[in-house]
Amino acid sequence: MSEKGSLIVISGFSGAGKGTVVKGLVSKYGYSLSVSATTRAPRPGEENGREYYFKTVDEFRNLIDYNGFIEWAQYVENYYGTPRKFVEDEMKQGRDVILEIEVQGAMNIKKQYPDATLIFISTKDIPTLKERLLGRGSETEEVIDKRIRRALEEADSMDEYEYIVVNDDLSTCIDTVHSVILSGKCKKEHKTEFMKGIKSELTEYASK
Ligand code: ADP
Ligand code: 5GP
Repeated sequence: MSEKGSLIVISGFSGAGKGTVVKGLVSKYGYSLSVSATTRAPRPGEENGREYYFKTVDEFRNLIDYNGFIEWAQYVENYYGTPRKFVEDEMKQGRDVILEIEVQGAMNIKKQYPDATLIFISTKDIPTLKERLLGRGSETEEVIDKRIRRALEEADSMDEYEYIVVNDDLSTCIDTVHSVILSGKCKKEHKTEFMKGIKSELTEYASK
């Protein structure tokens, strides 16, 4: 019997390298990546349907009303949500789906999908975080300062995650996250159906 795919939630401080690590996981290990919907304006270089589905507030609210999201959250002054159909279809086909989402959304997913693997990505220290945010060059120093201050709140939620991975060397981090996902799949809590099947095969064998 083919197994259903699982959800992998990746969160972390802005600038820790989540986006970069997730791209690596998709290209090196073939994970499926959910593209979220958002009401925020596209940044230069972002394309509708690639980084996000860009929606108006009315369109977004309509999707909420039609149960179009498996989770959604307000982050700073914008809405972000994970489209239901793509995720459910991929999982049915046995594919593991990565959600790169913030902490409230991650907690919501954990409630609905107890088998989801929750991973938090951090830099090794805060000077490195600041260096990466500056190096990315997509925010002003003022916004960077706000994001680092917000990281203090996010750090309080780190304890809710099952795995904390430090993104120091990029390729080591990608491989570590992949290993964490594989080991998460072997937890006995995720194997109840499998154990039942094996026991019933053995019972059948022994009865002959
Ligand atoms: P996030 O999605 O967490 O906000 P990004 O993936 O945009 O972060 O990464 C922030 C910046 O840090 C980018 O310029 C990226 O190229 C760089 N970066 C990511 N991972 C590493 C790493 N392991 N070593 C050095 N630079 C990195
Ligand atoms: P940004 O505006 O920098 O692209 O994203 C801001 C935050 O929203 C990031 O922490 C990102 O992970 C999170 N995010 C992106 N998509 C979703 C989503 O579908 N749901 C939730 N809850 N958060 C999301």
